[in-house]
Amino acid sequence: MDFELSEQQAAFRDLIRGFVRRSIAPVAREWELSGRYPEEIVAEMKTMGLFGMLVPAEHGGIGIDAVSYALVFEEISRGWMGVAGVLGTHSLACLMLARHGTPEQKGRWLPDLAAGERRSGIALTEPGAGSDLQGIQATARREGDHYVVRGTKTWITNARHADPLPVLVKTDPDAQPRHRGMSILMVEAGTPGFSVGKDLPKLGYRGTESCEVLLDGAAVPVGNLLGGVEGKGLQQALSALEFGRINIAARSVGIAQAAYEKALAYSKERRAFGQPIAEFQAVQLKLADMATEVQAARLLTWWAASLADAGRRTDVETGMAKLFASEVALRSSLDAMRIHGGYGYSQEFEIERLYRDAPLMAIGEGTNDILRTLIARQLVRD
Ligand SMILES: Cc1cc2nc3c(=O)[nH]c(=O)nc-3n(C[C@H](O)[C@H](O)[C@H](O)COP(=O)(O)OP(=O)(O)OC[C@H]3O[C@@H](n4cnc5c(N)ncnc54)[C@H](O)[C@@H]3O)c2cc1C
Repeated sequence: MDFELSEQQAAFRDLIRGFVRRSIAPVAREWELSGRYPEEIVAEMKTMGLFGMLVPAEHGGIGIDAVSYALVFEEISRGWMGVAGVLGTHSLACLMLARHGTPEQKGRWLPDLAAGERRSGIALTEPGAGSDLQGIQATARREGDHYVVRGTKTWITNARHADPLPVLVKTDPDAQPRHRGMSILMVEAGTPGFSVGKDLPKLGYRGTESCEVLLDGAAVPVGNLLGGVEGKGLQQALSALEFGRINIAARSVGIAQAAYEKALAYSKERRAFGQPIAEFQAVQLKLADMATEVQAARLLTWWAASLADAGRRTDVETGMAKLFASEVALRSSLDAMRIHGGYGYSQEFEIERLYRDAPLMAIGEGTNDILRTLIARQLVRD
């Protein structure tokens, strides 16, 4: 059993760490608070090939292993979790295309997506259905060589930059079981009847947009049906989400690590009652818990990622990693705020952003209660 990174993985982590220190950390607080889109950071991520993380080399990507993929999300989130969002659903869209796309679809989109010349996201959630994806209302009716798509998606991250955007629809609304009537259509920007609505105002996760997406009779060519066969959409989306939870777990580790580091540094500087607050046992207990939990979350994430690398089915394992790590991120960001006292509540420090960013980790890509039910179902079945 080896709990260490390989030499290559450690070198890759150092490369990403250097990039975050140089190009993300110095601007994160100001850009996040002002709502500025991180164009320059995105440009650098393109040059580094990060948009092609999950694109196989034959289609122009860097096709990295799942542990290295986790390292990218941890390191970026240590600097600014919102920036990781630019890569998150884009990578999942690439994964879905690489796994399920027809040869023609892969050739048409993957090289540009790998280069970041095209970007993507993933549109599943609707105003009336998030956890219950089989309850979506968006429909696609076939008319000759295209589908006519009607519906509304919400909370779609990267929507304004996505081209194409994978959209989950019902191609057979009467199918039983319901998932047999669900498909994914790759909707291209500029398709008449397809539009991106307002950016949704949000607590944190700034730096990347989350929007409403409207499909009002959008005509999508039949050739844009992912994999070319109807009825596979839910399965395609869930297999991407199963892998995607590694990225949410890793982002959570990044947030928790940053909270811990900032709390440790502050506790050595801040003095009260004639000594650094790090000398008080109450503060030490918090630091010890944070350091222990963040390392446990990291190892759980690497473990789930290495099982995915071994080609195993990992819905329970990635679910456990995401569940645990996101709860650690919530606790660590709150404890870091307590250790910072009033300054933790100030926008002049970074703690308040970590505290605002952490809760999304417990909501996105499967709420933690949904993951608990998924894990428990498997335990009971076994
Ligand atoms: C900032 C942000 C970005 C997002 N980005 C995207 C994106 O890019 N693409 C996308 O498709 N979606 C995106 N989402 C949506 C996100 O995936 C959903 O919010 C999430 O899946 C939960 O769905 P919901 O909000 O509809 O909550 P609901 O499904 O309505 O859940 C509400 C509550 O009920 C609980 N609940 C529901 N069903 C059960 C059950 N069976 N058992 C126990 N408890 C249950 C949930 O755990 C939760 O606590 C984003 C959301 C946010 C906030």
